[in-house]
Amino acid sequence: MTSLAARPAITTTTHFINGAWSEPGGPTFPDYNPFDDQVVAEIAAGGPAEAEAAVAAAHAAFPGWAATAPAERQRLFLKAADITERRRAEIVHILAVESGCSAPFAHFQVQWSVNLLRQAANWGYLPVGEVLPSDTPGRFAMAVRKPLGVVAGFTPWNGAFNLAWRTIALPMAFGNTVVIKPSEEAPVSAGLLHAEIAAEAGFPAGSLNVVVHAPGDAAAISEVFMASPAVRCINFTGSASTARILAERAGRALKPIVLELGGYNPMIVLADADLAHAVDATVFGAFFHQGQICLCTRKVLVERPLHDAFLDALAARTAALSCGDPTKASTVIGPLINDRAVRQVAARVEEAIARGARVVTGAASHGRVYEPTILADVPRDAVVALGSEETFGPVLVVEAVEDAEEALERAQATPYGLSAAIMTGDQDRGLDLAQRFDTGIVHVNAPTLVGEPSLPNGGVKDSGWGRSGHYAREDFTEIRLTTLNHGA
Ligand code: NAD
Repeated sequence: MTSLAARPAITTTTHFINGAWSEPGGPTFPDYNPFDDQVVAEIAAGGPAEAEAAVAAAHAAFPGWAATAPAERQRLFLKAADITERRRAEIVHILAVESGCSAPFAHFQVQWSVNLLRQAANWGYLPVGEVLPSDTPGRFAMAVRKPLGVVAGFTPWNGAFNLAWRTIALPMAFGNTVVIKPSEEAPVSAGLLHAEIAAEAGFPAGSLNVVVHAPGDAAAISEVFMASPAVRCINFTGSASTARILAERAGRALKPIVLELGGYNPMIVLADADLAHAVDATVFGAFFHQGQICLCTRKVLVERPLHDAFLDALAARTAALSCGDPTKASTVIGPLINDRAVRQVAARVEEAIARGARVVTGAASHGRVYEPTILADVPRDAVVALGSEETFGPVLVVEAVEDAEEALERAQATPYGLSAAIMTGDQDRGLDLAQRFDTGIVHVNAPTLVGEPSLPNGGVKDSGWGRSGHYAREDFTEIRLTTLNHGA
């Protein structure tokens, strides 16, 4: 197949099932550039028939892939990493035109993916079990981890490229075969590119399958995954609201479901923090990828003695961020993903202003580019400050607090539990506060947004469950007890 990236004009893309691209000619839907509405590609719109074929292919490929020697799996993952690295420039371009991704975030996604693939290459060598003592004389007992079978993955559009690799590589590294359903907002960078790379690397037919669907048709595909006995696990990255629908359905099907969801991630800045470092961490944490990352900082709680200086410095840095076309190397803030996102962000900001919030900077849009926005004096019951809703855009609430105890209490007032950060000049105090956070991740003297593929990303409460890196072995393998009665 010709590379999608080599044909940046309108391109028809199809599903990747059992090692082959399906024939073009069926229904399609346009894939738009969120910055200028240009059609980037014309994408095949799949339905239940394609999903069933993909599951059947993954099911048939499972015994072979599960039995593939670790050395062979390692060779394939390393090759996929090399291909990804070689195609960096095209991938960066596709991420910009398909999901509004600035060059720094797109390069980050490519490098993260390369690193993940090189790490996953070795996971086939992780120990798979233990010999257990038995109370019965003559009984030899082994607990051995084995892959589950077919894992059905749902990928989001926001970290489209690296999160799709996470959805694919984690289960595959432990011997599962995979079917993924990319987000309809960025189907090329959230799945189709991965199929191209896996095909070129030589992954066996059926080990990875990709089925895309038109906007609004996700449920029809997911129902096939839920209903199929061959699918042994659902692997979802996306919003808590979609997760509730899928978890309920998976519960009825008695399928395990891994959930990597959103967050309302607070940062505490204590009075003894390094001001410049705290400002850097906040600008990066709040506004990287226009605030459209699950780990983005949504609220900063600053001890009063540092509050005014922090806000002034933060406002100056934020107002200077360059906004516009993400294909330009100088752009830091590109467009939001679609009109619905712009409307949601604008409505939340307007609601806060109507309730008395003060705009420190931003609060205006130019097309789909929404200026990075800082709000102060926000009433606790404004939606952006509540902590119960993720405002998925470049909007940050800054609040003054009297002390660390008040900061901790307010930072924890959220049903989410993904990431948090503490900035302080006293490392012991930072570590002490960190242990008191009810989140999956907490950073001392670093932004809420830290991404390394080897580290266990994941949340608690409404932010989901499951952990990435090699910790994913817990999610994508199961233990089989085998006994041998050698006394008999
Ligand atoms: P989303 O929930 O709208 O979509 C995620 C996936 O679910 C997509 O593939 C989509 O097509 C599918 N989907 C949507 N509705 C469905 C339905 N009714 N039935 C079946 N499938 C359905 O999320 P999104 O907008 O793509 O991504 C942004 C969200 O993801 C944010 O909440 C963000 O915080 C979260 N996220 C979390 C992580 C993490 O690692 N914790 C990473 C990235 C994004």
